Amino acid sequence: MKIHEFQARAILAGAGIPVPSGSMVTSVDQAHTAAKGLFAGGSKMVVVKAQVHAGGRGKAGFVKVVKSAADAKEAAAFMLASRMHSPQTPPEGLEVSRLLVADAVEIAHEYYVAVLVDRARSANTLIASAEGGVEIERVAERNPAAILRVELDPQHGLLPFRGRALALALGFKGKAIAQAVSIFSKLAQLERECDASLVEVNPLVLTPPSASHPDGQVMAIDAKFAFDDNALFRHGEIAAMNDPLEENPSERRAQEFGLSYVALDGNIGCLVNGAGLAMSTMDIIKLHGGEPANFLDVGGSASDEAVTEAFRIILSDARVQGVLVNIFGGIMPCDRIARAIVTAATNIGFKVPLVVRLEGTNVAQARRILDEARAEIPTMAIAADLADAAAKVVAAVSQPV
Ligand code: GDP
Ligand code: MG
Repeated sequence: MKIHEFQARAILAGAGIPVPSGSMVTSVDQAHTAAKGLFAGGSKMVVVKAQVHAGGRGKAGFVKVVKSAADAKEAAAFMLASRMHSPQTPPEGLEVSRLLVADAVEIAHEYYVAVLVDRARSANTLIASAEGGVEIERVAERNPAAILRVELDPQHGLLPFRGRALALALGFKGKAIAQAVSIFSKLAQLERECDASLVEVNPLVLTPPSASHPDGQVMAIDAKFAFDDNALFRHGEIAAMNDPLEENPSERRAQEFGLSYVALDGNIGCLVNGAGLAMSTMDIIKLHGGEPANFLDVGGSASDEAVTEAFRIILSDARVQGVLVNIFGGIMPCDRIARAIVTAATNIGFKVPLVVRLEGTNVAQARRILDEARAEIPTMAIAADLADAAAKVVAAVSQPV
């Protein structure tokens, strides 16, 4: 699960990490009022930021630093009326319905810092760079040496000497060193305590020297969290931050029908019952040279509606050029799946090749139902076994259209 920046900032602030003050608004007037409040309270600049579950807002024009409440109002009006397009959004862009209006800080330098689960090293890892900001992806590509990595101790998190060495390597000086180390260890602690798979602050900024902070102040001005869904049950406050409007619409629809659906990059849609069978179905598709478009587990006792919905979800993915149904009929008998296939085909129509492999309870009746429906589903092929099914669907999607 992901959350919005304004929520992430609240978590950071709660952990004692310096974050500029601000508030979330949902209308142009609210944005205007919030900006007026900040200027009246002594802010010299205010930043208006679109709150969507995608990065790249700065380059897309959805982060605007302004010097008057009138300009804040104008920025808010633009963002709430436009869809945001960035390399991290779907092609149709994202609607913006929330904004953050916050005190903007002067920036002397932008750093990147993140804590994540490094599966290759089986360790929580802190990564950081002195070349933070909106070009971080380019830095990672062109100059990977500029990205520093520190493994975290499973019991103690960020060991203090490692935090210090990192702050020095990043170029922090004087009193800013201790501020940076404190932020690094708090981020490491947060990642662990919140069961997050990613905590990212980009940019972590150093402000220019001031009377109260002669070596500058280190602050988080952007923040991103990704949480492990399987651990959300023990973090009620975090689970409550979920914004259903920001989820992948197909994954949300699947959830409503009790289906486990994960969109992937290939072109073969899979409808399977049972997570283990879904994994082996994806494996055998790959073994035959194909690429699965999704993982979809209809579960052991899915209703006719859920199965029909599963087909709708798979077929709504424009990349799907063929569908493989692989069902072992146990609790859910094969004939019910067969009927659902026929219903789905009549309701929405299969334009792409469909390969069906059924085995188990009531398989004979199921084959008969499918056989009788051949006229309604001309693109359907019935497979003898799993290998045959994979070969047939891979061959079907490899043919030029
Ligand atoms: P992102 O592009 O979605 O990651 O949005 P960010 O919150 O990281 O903002 C993008 C860029 O806008 C930052 O890298 C900064 O250069 C600039 N920016 C954001 N907030 C402020 C601020 O408070 N003051 C100043 N001077 N620049 C800011
Ligand atoms: Mg950022």
